[in-house]
Amino acid sequence: MSEEIILDIKDLRTSFFTEDVEVKAVDGVSFKLPKGKTIGIVGESGSGKSITALSILRLLEHPGKIVGGEINFKDKDLTKASDREIRDIRGNEISMIFQEPMTSLNPVYTVGQQIRETLKVHQGLGKEQGTKKGVELLELVGIPSPKKRITQYPHELSGGMRQRVMIAMALACNPELLIADEPTTALDVTIQAQILEIINDLQDRFDMSVIMITHDMGVVAETCDYVAVMYGGKVVEYADVKTIFKEPKHPYTVGLLNSIP
Ligand code: ADP
Ligand code: MG
Repeated sequence: MSEEIILDIKDLRTSFFTEDVEVKAVDGVSFKLPKGKTIGIVGESGSGKSITALSILRLLEHPGKIVGGEINFKDKDLTKASDREIRDIRGNEISMIFQEPMTSLNPVYTVGQQIRETLKVHQGLGKEQGTKKGVELLELVGIPSPKKRITQYPHELSGGMRQRVMIAMALACNPELLIADEPTTALDVTIQAQILEIINDLQDRFDMSVIMITHDMGVVAETCDYVAVMYGGKVVEYADVKTIFKEPKHPYTVGLLNSIP
């Protein structure tokens, strides 16, 4: 059976330049993600996980720059796509959720206003339709009394609820690929489990492909089909999840598995 590959990253390299000094943040990342599957990107802090994710969507902050490699998403190399093409893909085909949802939700607008705006931009929905669809999305991610929640401001919600709102907004455009950058790190353990369950469930329902960035091998065991282990800006090991747990090859992976309580 041949699998459709939705994302094929080849030798990606991304650097930051300060006064002509190059700091290599990502220095050789390669992996493939089959459609509908989840790949975990694991690695210690500073190993280049977030910069890899931001490179895919070209959300790098100045002076970060992709200096080499390919990011093949379906039939396009995103490193060569125009700004306009990237804008279309961002939010329409690829969505991203971040570690701390408070920084991605705007504190001065209600949940409803923000979801409606997303739905207006991506699906052209008016106010009434946007509210209806917004309530549906909040229901989908397991938010109780969504009709009330939609009128509230981000600070009135718990961290777990805010992360659910972010997932709902990420889903507003029916993305084919969801990039989740440590989506549960800031949350406590029971809420973490619920959020992961929601992502798993949505993935099954919509055949979404997922990049799950985490430093938690428990999360990997629970959610991932494949794993790319990053160390010093490189993918040092890439395999299906069973192989990684059974026969880890790189010393960093071995250490990571030994550190599981
Ligand atoms: P993580 O694996 O923790 O997500 P990051 O991808 O955020 O790591 O960062 C990888 C490396 O990129 C860091 O160790 C740092 O050297 C470099 N880096 C990240 N952001 C910047 C920046 N704004 N300016 C310069 N270097 C950066
Ligand atoms: Mg990070």
